[in-house]
Parts: sequence; C-alpha cells; structure tokens
Amino acid sequence: MPVEIKAPIVVNTAEAEILGILRKSGEISRLEISHITGWSKAKTSQEIRKLVNKGFIIEIGEGNSHGGRKPRILQLNNNIGYLVGIDIGATSIDLALAGISGQIYQRRSEPADVHQKPSIVLGRCIELIQEMVRAQGGQPVQIFGVGIGVPGPVDFNRGVLVAPPLMPDWENFSFRDYFKNIFPSAIVIVDNDVNIMALGEQKAGKGVGIDHFIFIKIGTGIGAGIISNGKIHRGSDGCAGDIGHICVDKKGPICRCGNFGCLEAMAAGPAIVEKAILAANNGSSPLLRQILETNDGILRPEDVNIACRDGNQAALEIIRSSGQMVGDVLASLVNFFNPSHVFIGGGISNFGNHLLVAIRQAVLRRSLPLATQHLSIDFSGIGADAGVIGAITLASQYLFTVKDELQQTA
Ligand SMILES: [Zn+2]
Repeated sequence: MPVEIKAPIVVNTAEAEILGILRKSGEISRLEISHITGWSKAKTSQEIRKLVNKGFIIEIGEGNSHGGRKPRILQLNNNIGYLVGIDIGATSIDLALAGISGQIYQRRSEPADVHQKPSIVLGRCIELIQEMVRAQGGQPVQIFGVGIGVPGPVDFNRGVLVAPPLMPDWENFSFRDYFKNIFPSAIVIVDNDVNIMALGEQKAGKGVGIDHFIFIKIGTGIGAGIISNGKIHRGSDGCAGDIGHICVDKKGPICRCGNFGCLEAMAAGPAIVEKAILAANNGSSPLLRQILETNDGILRPEDVNIACRDGNQAALEIIRSSGQMVGDVLASLVNFFNPSHVFIGGGISNFGNHLLVAIRQAVLRRSLPLATQHLSIDFSGIGADAGVIGAITLASQYLFTVKDELQQTA
C-alpha cells in the first residue's frame, strides 16, 4: 500500500486514461479497457500492472466468460483512502464519506444556516467528517478529496464564491486553505450546488449514460446544472445555468439580487410561502390559515404541499403557478440547448405531480416541436442524495491528475 500519498496524485497520460475509465464504470474487465482505449492487450496489461503495483487499482474477482478464460475485473482501490462530499444548502448540510471508487460508507445530514459565518458552518462540517472517519476506523490524513457544493455563484478555477446573495460573509472565502489545514492530504474542489447535483444525477441517478441534460433545482433558490456532451458546462466564469435570475415579470417583486421579477423571487420556496400567507390572511384558504395559527405564525413550503395534498385549492394554485413559471423559463432553455432529459430536484421537488405536470405543460406549450419530440421531464432519480454523490464525484475527478491539468488544486 502506498504511504504518504498527497492528492492530487500525479500520473502519466495512459494511467490517467485507465483511472478515468474505472472512475466512470466502477468495475470493468481488462478486455473492456483494451476495447475503450484501443490499445493492444499487451499494452493494456502492462499499464494496468503498473497501477496495481502502485496500489491505485485492485482486482476484485472474475467476471462472466463468453468462452475462454474468465475476464478479471478491476476497480479503484478503496483501501487507499477516502473522499468526502459536502452539499451545503441554504438551510441544511449533507455530508458523506466514501471510498475513492465513490462507494458511500457514512452519511450525515442536519439543519444549518448559511447566513452564519463560514467558520461556523464549515467548522460543524469538519466535526462531522472527523466523526465519520472515526466511525470507519480511519484517520483524517487518509482523506484525499473534499468536494463541496454551495448555494451561490462559484468562480470554479479559484474555488471561491463571488457576490453570493444568500451568504455575503462567504465572499472570496478560501475553502481550500480552510480544509487543507485539517485534511492536509486532500484536494479541495468547490462548485455551485446545482452543478454537483447534475454530476450526482449523471453518476447514480436517471442521468447515467445521458449526454445532454439539464438538472433544475427548486428550493430556497432556483438554478440549473447543464450536462453537455457528457460533461458539466460551467461557462467562461462558472455561472452558466444561473437561471434563477432570469426575468419573468418586470413588474414582479424585488429579488435578493436587486432586480425585479426574477424567476427565483416569483417561484422558489420563499415566494410559495409568501403567497400562502397571503391566502391564509385574505380568507381564500381557511386550511392554510389554520396551519399558520397552529404553527405560531410560521408557514413552511412543506405546509403548502400538505395543504395541496389535502385538496386545498389555493395551495394547489400556488404550486401550479410556480411550476408554470419554471416551465416557461425551461421552455426557452429547451429551445436553446436541446437536451434529451430534464431532471427536477431540490426541496420543492417533493411537491409531486401537480408541480411536474405544470412544468411539463408550460414547456410543451412554448417549446419547438422538434425540441420536445423526444424530451423527457422528470424528477431526479436520487432526490436528496444527488448533491453529496455529485460532490464526491467532483472530488474523484481531480484525485488523479496529469501534471499539466492541475486547476483548483494548484
Ligand atoms: Zn434575482
């Protein structure tokens, strides 16, 4: 077993190619690697032997034979160390500890408030990570990658938040320095929360094997992660997919970004709550009024969903209206980007079929027939796990590197 490893682990181009194949496929035979790379069996075996000797990959048994010798199956060596995925939401933190193949060992979730300083929220994350590593019988020094998703615009190359409306104290905060102090062997990669959800969906959800899709998160905010040609599309500065601030109604309410009538200000969780409070107070929904009074004057988006499930018409209209607005914006994105699939995730996505139907109808009404003839719009297949799985996937993408490709880790 290699000792004193520090990530990113520098490998040569051939080794990086094999490690990349293993990262994507999980388990795979030598023969399949040889087919994908186009290398001879001899060269493939030679490169694999080098990686096995270095301890980066292991043979985990034999696959099914199609005549002749049974193929030996390879996998990334989870005994090397750990990866950590952190999904920071506006009101919660979700963490997972995984092997370098992405297999999750431990999982933690709890409420949090990103309006607090980064040292408070991330300090708690570090406590939870240490707890998970201990529970697994490991050491913090064995953590080789930390992937982090945050609910704000991220300059991906620098790994910092830029003018985050929800969390102003976090502007330019160096996640890398903060985590490297505690986990000195780790690379630290930061991205916005929707991009990591899209990566998670591609790794383990309904997006497996799909090259062109949009992941839309509807929660406290609204954003989109774009998978184009199988890869995440971040744009030139990292803010591609920030659809929450597309204008839906110039005369609409003011948004936390300072503009009026943004999609987020009109259709996300806080807007849903605001409309529900109005319905409770103006007499159009006695049920919402009752919930409001029982909860000491507090309504949560979930309460609107509960009322809707109870058949409350006002609640149903509020949810439908949010779905329509998201769908109207999505229709333009579908015309512009022509994805084959759209996946909806985030806290509000638990709102079930009324939301989904409203989104689908708006898209079908407004998009070009050619763009929608094969389009599928559905909920995320992995729901609340999309973020942490994606954060781990992100860290794993940078664990091994060919020297020239060092980015956030430099
Ligand atoms: Zn805005």
